[in-house]
Amino acid sequence: MKPKMELKIVKRIVLIGFTVVCLCIILSAATKLDLFAYIGIGLAAATMIFWGIFGRCPACGKFLRRSSSKFCRHCGQPISWK
Ligand SMILES: [Zn+2]
Repeated sequence: MKPKMELKIVKRIVLIGFTVVCLCIILSAATKLDLFAYIGIGLAAATMIFWGIFGRCPACGKFLRRSSSKFCRHCGQPISWK
């Protein structure tokens, strides 16, 4: 399985996802509404699943695990994040 999506776009979506998760946690604490906490947890899970599907080496298609690696730890292919 080799999902195709540019890694810079994947990384941006993941960053936005986690920013929104943080906002939901802050909103939940500020408003005392559990709803925001549930949205935050759901979104965090969705973001991690998204990263699990698309955070992959363009060369060998294996999971990169971290979004900061310069090289694929499976095949050694340089990873472009720009
Ligand atoms: Zn690779």
